[in-house]
Amino acid sequence: VIQIISSNIPVPSSVAPAHPYSGKVIALTTKHSKHRALSPAMRKELKAIVVTVQAETDQFGTFVGDVPRTETARATALAKARLGLEQTGWKLGLATEGSFQSNPFLPGYCLHVEWIAFVDESSGLEILECIKTDKTNFGHLLTKPGQDIQPFLQSSKFGSHSLIVRPNQPSGRVEVFRGVRDLETLMQTTREASEQSLDGLARLETDMRADQNPTRMEIIEALGNRLASRLRKQCAKCWAPGWGLIKVKRGIPCVDCHSPTTLIKAEIHGCGLCDHTEEQSTSDPLSFASPQYCDRCNP
Ligand SMILES: [Zn+2]
Ligand SMILES: [Zn+2]
Repeated sequence: VIQIISSNIPVPSSVAPAHPYSGKVIALTTKHSKHRALSPAMRKELKAIVVTVQAETDQFGTFVGDVPRTETARATALAKARLGLEQTGWKLGLATEGSFQSNPFLPGYCLHVEWIAFVDESSGLEILECIKTDKTNFGHLLTKPGQDIQPFLQSSKFGSHSLIVRPNQPSGRVEVFRGVRDLETLMQTTREASEQSLDGLARLETDMRADQNPTRMEIIEALGNRLASRLRKQCAKCWAPGWGLIKVKRGIPCVDCHSPTTLIKAEIHGCGLCDHTEEQSTSDPLSFASPQYCDRCNP
């Protein structure tokens, strides 16, 4: 009996090829213990080891405003990641940068935008991800000793989260108290700041540094999870890590007039290194949009 075995039957391999970052060191540039939030996902998804680089990142700007930030949060995250590589000579770098905005038209509403940047200097790969959320304690209060600040302490999650205390109208060179977390220190620094202020008011601000702000740390962790699972996906053409969403295609047709609406009909996924992309439709190709999304029927 002659058995013919075709040579092009793939031989099943019991061991999947290792991810290119498996066992590699990723330099995380931070002064504020972001390692806690970012290391587990990189280890779980890539088997990569995150090592903190204690670089001086204040040059890029601080939340307290003593060093103004001149670049966008996105550009700053990238610059920080590269700084860690300059200092260590390693090839894989990681950093995050946050920005916070209150809306003058919506009192109490604040937006936290956090960017994470990953750089692979050996290939030139750069992957950026971002989360925008209103889940933040960001805020401030002007006060003086003896006033009831309980509602602010509650909304700013004081105790588990820190505050920054400083004079509202500083007279000359004054002290800024950071990382204030207990009531006794808060009372004392409020008194001092109020005495140093021309209008007698102390300014209490939420401390947004990641190690002083568990709410921000949670967002950084979620962002790290998103980045790690993106890095795990490799391009089908060149095997570069970081395959993922690069843009969306809008234009599901209106059910009444058939003109394109702003609703997303497909996602374009792509590679960070080569030009390979794939379109994934997010809706049934035969579906229509309600006229409420149509500029023509509902301008
Ligand atoms: Zn229409
Ligand atoms: Zn590719």
